[in-house]
Amino acid sequence: MQKKEKSFGIQMLSVQPDTKPKGCAGCNRKIKDRYLLKALDKYWHEDCLKCACCDCRLGEVGSTLYTKANLILCRRDYLRELGDFIQQQITYINKVGSIKLEK
Ligand SMILES: [Zn+2]
Ligand SMILES: [Zn+2]
Repeated sequence: MQKKEKSFGIQMLSVQPDTKPKGCAGCNRKIKDRYLLKALDKYWHEDCLKCACCDCRLGEVGSTLYTKANLILCRRDYLRELGDFIQQQITYINKVGSIKLEK
């Protein structure tokens, strides 16, 4: 049975200098860059919206991210079989209920 893909669009927005800086959902700091990413109804630094598995910057890879068990993944990692690393992360995340990853 084919599973339905959970994909979400990523928008790159330019930050207007006269607006209040938005908080980044990845690192919780204010985004003072010229551009920010909007995904999952949250704002992100370009550096902070990364695949939880391979660390690639999702704003560069394409304009789509995928989620699985609260992990944010690139298409490649979403589609392949997830290894032990991700399984551990999923267990961890289900415990803490957060999208933040411990390194
Ligand atoms: Zn950030
Ligand atoms: Zn990846």
